[in-house]
Amino acid sequence: MPSTATVTSSPESKNAELPSAEFIEGIRAIAREHFDSAFLPQEELPRQKWELLTRAGVLLPALPTEFGGRDSHLEMCRVIEAIAEWNLPLAMYAKIISAVALRPIVMRASEPTRTEVLSEFGTGAPLICGFASTEPGCGSNMSAMRTTFEPGPAGYRLRGHKHWQGFSTTADWWLVSAKNDDNGREYGYFVLRREEGFTTTERYTPMGMRLLDYGLNEIDATVPAHRRLDAANHDLSAMPELLTPPRSMMASIAAGFLRRISRETRAYAERRPLGRGTLADIGFVRYRIRAVESSATICRALAHHVETRMDLKSDMTESFPVSLALKTVATERMVSAANHYVQIAGGEGYRTESPTNIAAQAFLDTRVFTIFDGTNDLLSQQLTHHCQKLAAGDPLSSFLATWELTAPAVGAGIDLTFLDGPLAQEHLVLAGRAIAYAIAHTLVRQWSQRTTDVTDQARIAMAFLTADVNAIAVEFNLLAQRIL
Ligand SMILES: Cc1cc2nc3c(=O)[nH]c(=O)nc-3n(C[C@H](O)[C@H](O)[C@H](O)COP(=O)(O)OP(=O)(O)OC[C@H]3O[C@@H](n4cnc5c(N)ncnc54)[C@H](O)[C@@H]3O)c2cc1C
Repeated sequence: MPSTATVTSSPESKNAELPSAEFIEGIRAIAREHFDSAFLPQEELPRQKWELLTRAGVLLPALPTEFGGRDSHLEMCRVIEAIAEWNLPLAMYAKIISAVALRPIVMRASEPTRTEVLSEFGTGAPLICGFASTEPGCGSNMSAMRTTFEPGPAGYRLRGHKHWQGFSTTADWWLVSAKNDDNGREYGYFVLRREEGFTTTERYTPMGMRLLDYGLNEIDATVPAHRRLDAANHDLSAMPELLTPPRSMMASIAAGFLRRISRETRAYAERRPLGRGTLADIGFVRYRIRAVESSATICRALAHHVETRMDLKSDMTESFPVSLALKTVATERMVSAANHYVQIAGGEGYRTESPTNIAAQAFLDTRVFTIFDGTNDLLSQQLTHHCQKLAAGDPLSSFLATWELTAPAVGAGIDLTFLDGPLAQEHLVLAGRAIAYAIAHTLVRQWSQRTTDVTDQARIAMAFLTADVNAIAVEFNLLAQRIL
């Protein structure tokens, strides 16, 4: 690994000038040729392999042009989607660096910090920047964080423990959240170099997603004052904005990943002999395949929304509610599709490194997607709270019948009246899921109106989403039977 101090200027500056389609195709070709998860070992990615992508400009869409970047919202989405088709953990790898860690530095760091950090990343060197927020005692409940910052003559002293960070032992740079209780609660976000005091004291072994390394990290560092980001400090309100881009980009990841999974699930069933025909002749297998294909359709529509209606390069506060739906629906669909794929592939689907399919790997890699980047259960609760606030005392279903994100779904017959009335915590989570499905229904509908080519796929995808909402209504009835 080259020391950050010795990074030379990039011979790949032409990557900043390539036409967009050619640039994306270049990344796609590298992903397919060098990172196909059917062949790439499920182990920590060597730096030289990451360099194949950084030299091809994988991080450039996230970087401003003054640092040699391509500064492109659309390309940030498309690069991640192209990689996800060939290697899901690698897409997450690139997304963490570009959208979770570098984006806040691009948008909120002081000029000296931007120059220090972004000029290094702009060279095409295989650098890594991670985001450290989760602590052993604080995951979903961020206000319980214990990592502190204290202002002093040399800058800010940061002390505490963080865990489960992707790139724990390998990141060159970190974005770290911390608190100070000296004069009432204050929060801060700081940029630090690993050598300044970020140490991994224990490595964790994950179930999947093994291209990244994880662990328990100790922070004891002093960083210059200019390395504090410009962010709301008296509450955690900056955090949703920081997390809205990566949560939204789950749709891009899911679109790429599910394109492959749906293709391979069908192909596996069609070539696996059974009696005089193949697995694909069985009605229930075809039903499973259709469920997988519908998930791919839904996520394509969600990704289209991210590409055309959002802007990762701007303040994304307004996109908070839709990002909750994008993240929860896209990740649930990934887990569900991987599960169908394993089942269809039978014993071979349970075999890691099977020569016939990647179902086991897909299953192991997808499972965590409903947990990290904000656990889906919490995000669903937050979505309901958000809608309740907007409803301002009106019945939730009346508000949802007029809200632009759900009104088209309600107009198309989705019945959300079961959400009216008092909602206990367990109802809040379920309600958020129903609202997220209704949002997805709207987005599929809007996407399908662009072209008649997808009308039938969209119709089937919307039927699955309607069934999902109806299943939540059944769960409300179950809860009414005092099962808790
Ligand atoms: C592979 C992996 C990579 C990660 N990468 C990073 C990273 O790069 N940086 C980083 O800072 N962190 C990272 N994390 C941490 C991750 O973001 C947290 O694990 C996640 O936020 C959940 O926090 P927790 O583990 O403390 O779970 P807890 O907060 O203990 O929650 C556990 C479970 O409780 C339930 N739950 C919690 N709240 C609610 C609610 N309101 N309603 C219903 N149920 C609820 C959910 O089922 C939840 O999954 C990573 C984790 C993993 C596993």
